[in-house]
Order: sequence, then structure tokens, then C-alpha cells
Amino acid sequence: MSSLKMVNVNKVYPNGFHAVKDMNLEVKDNEFIVFVGPSGCGKSTALRMIAGLEEISEGELLIDDEVMNDVSPKDRDIAMVFQNYALYPHMTNYENMAFGLKLRKMPKEEIDKRVSEAASILGLTPILKNKPKQLSGGQRQRVALGRAIVRNPKVFLMDEPLSNLDAKLRVQTRAEISKLHQRLKTTFIYVTHDQTEAMTMGTRIVVLKDGVVMQVDSPKNLYDKPENKFVGGFIGSPQMNFINGKAVERGGEIILDYLGTSFTIDDERQTGLRETDYVNKEVTIGIRPEHLTVEITDEETDDTGIVEVTELLGSETYLFIKLKEETIVARVDPNLDLEVGNQVKIKMKKDKVHLFDVKSEESILHKARGSREK
Ligand code: ATP
Repeated sequence: MSSLKMVNVNKVYPNGFHAVKDMNLEVKDNEFIVFVGPSGCGKSTALRMIAGLEEISEGELLIDDEVMNDVSPKDRDIAMVFQNYALYPHMTNYENMAFGLKLRKMPKEEIDKRVSEAASILGLTPILKNKPKQLSGGQRQRVALGRAIVRNPKVFLMDEPLSNLDAKLRVQTRAEISKLHQRLKTTFIYVTHDQTEAMTMGTRIVVLKDGVVMQVDSPKNLYDKPENKFVGGFIGSPQMNFINGKAVERGGEIILDYLGTSFTIDDERQTGLRETDYVNKEVTIGIRPEHLTVEITDEETDDTGIVEVTELLGSETYLFIKLKEETIVARVDPNLDLEVGNQVKIKMKKDKVHLFDVKSEESILHKARGSREK
């Protein structure tokens, strides 16, 4: 059993750059945690602090309730897999996998047993005598995974391990790592900038932006209930559409005015706006491309748009629709016969609309849920 805790962890580099700000995280045994965010958000720095490769400037790191800040990397009982594999070219794959155990002066028979087991899990048995340069990128990454597995660590750390692989191999290896996690039943912490990897692999995801944790949640909650505009926009492809609007009260109902037209919303959203005092205020409306319905229309009204681009992907089609000064992306059924230049009417699904504060970018529905819980 192993748990990991970060308490108000900060990283300030010697040049004064504050790369990780007050990070708090509690990882339970056997979780698959993914750190995700755009380039430079601090995810590698956070992982390297856990590994002990980077000093923690402030705050505490605990593994199994023991403070690790000053424990050297080799004594933390963790194993790290890097993007560039970091294999020794002059050693065979067997020797690469056995190297760390030899350094620890483990008996030869035990090393042999562990390497054989790991090789069999990863399908490396036939190539143990080869050297890394004789292998494909995917096989090399498996040797690097094998080298981590043989150590039987409390925590596996992985920093973008798939980014050197081509698209097809990346999808395959992604599934292999997920299977490995189910089999080893150990805590994994995995860094990626790719939201699809994060969503498909993580049991929980930590979304980072500029060194700050924006949300820690299950993939489903991140998608359905983003706590802020950043998470709404970062998770999901094509991206969530954002439109400026205003919540107004008409005939006892709260409706949203946007781009010169208006639409009604469900009770949950109306109540949320009322409770958090957004009536007659500007809001940012967020709507995912799959939560729009698009119909051809002959009639030109305030809420009709024009299809500017169509992207056919086989199982779905993306439409880029010009609506006043905005471009709205809709994901539609490819059988819907729409072409560039078509005049269309767009409707948002009432119970799928997200609402964000214009300035703080916090989700208004999240705020309402929070104030109800208090
Ligand atoms: P990427 O995917 O591009 O690696 P990341 O989210 O992993 O991004 P980090 O590598 O953690 O980002 O870097 C976070 C920020 O800290 C970046 O702005 C980076 O330039 C800065 N940084 C990293 N290492 C140092 C260093 N040794 N000294 C100063 N600044 C650094």
C-alpha cells in the first residue's frame, strides 16, 4: 500500500521563476494520476519534485505519511520512465533492465526472476539479448518500462513516455500502460500535454496552468463539470465554444441574450444564476460542439449563421459556422447533408450549457453548487 501527498508544494527556480504554486494533492494507493496542461505549466517540475530530481522550495511531500523532501531519489522507492527512454546503448536489454538491481546488490537469481517476469509481461522475452539500437521506439520504451517494473516500486512516475512514438504506436502503447497499471496495482503518476491521453488513462486528472492546479477530478467530471473556463477549453476536442452573453430576466424566467438573439435555459441553470447573483450581468457561455444542433433554413433571422468550413472525419463532421462576428464549431452526424455556404440555424442543448464568470472565469454552476454545500 502506498499513498502520496503534496502539501502546499512550491517550486521557485534559482532565477526566481515560480514554476509550481501551492500544489496540494492526495494520491491514494493504486490510482492512475495524470498531470496535464499546456507546455510550461509546471507538470514536469511537479513530477521531478516527487522523484527527488528537483528540490522542493516550500511545502511537503509525503509517501506513506513519511516526509520525503530530503530523502535522496534512490531511497524514495519510486521508478521513473522518461520520454527519451534513457537506456544504456552498450548494454543488452536484459542488462539495462537488471542494472538498477545489480547496483543494489540483489542476488543474481532474484534479478533473473524479476527480469524474466517483467519481460514476459511486456512481451520482451525474445529480444532480451539484443541491444536497444536494434529495437523500434515502441520496444525501447517497453524496455524502459521493464527497467522500472523490476524494481517493484511504490510509485511509478512517467514523463511523456509516448511522445517519441508515432500516432498508431502511441495509441497501442497507451492501452498497454493502462493494462500494466491494472496488473501491477501500483500508484502511477503520468505527465502529458495531450488531453486525450489524460482522459483515456487517468483515474483522476490534475489540470495545471501557469504552475497552478485548476481542477483535480475524474475524466468524466472534468468533461461534464469543468470548474473554470480554462478546464472547459482544455479538455475536449474540438474545443468548447465560448460566446459572450448576458443573463436577463423576462416574464419571471432567466434567459440568455447573446449575439443579438436569446435562448431559454433549464431550471438548474436559472437557479444557479439567481443564487450566485448573475441576473442582469454579463456571462461567458460555453457550449461543446456536440451539444449544438444545426438545421438548414431558408429564412434569414437574427440567429442564423453560414457554414464556412466543413471537416469530414468519417464518423463525424465538424462544421465551422459564422454567426455574427463569432465562429462556432459544431460536431454533427456526417449524414447531415451540409455544405459550405448553407444558411443554418443553431440550437444549444439547454441542459448542456456551461456558464462562466467573465472576469474570474470560474464556473457559475460550480460556484452555485459550492454555496449550496456550505
Ligand atoms: P513541457 O511539456 O514543455 O515540458 P511542463 O509543463 O512540463 O512543460 P516544466 O518543464 O515543468 O513545464 O517547466 C515549467 C516552467 O519552468 C517553464 O516555464 C520552464 O521554462 C521553467 N523552468 C524549467 N526548468 C527551469 C530551470 N531550471 N530554471 C528556470 N526555469 C525553469
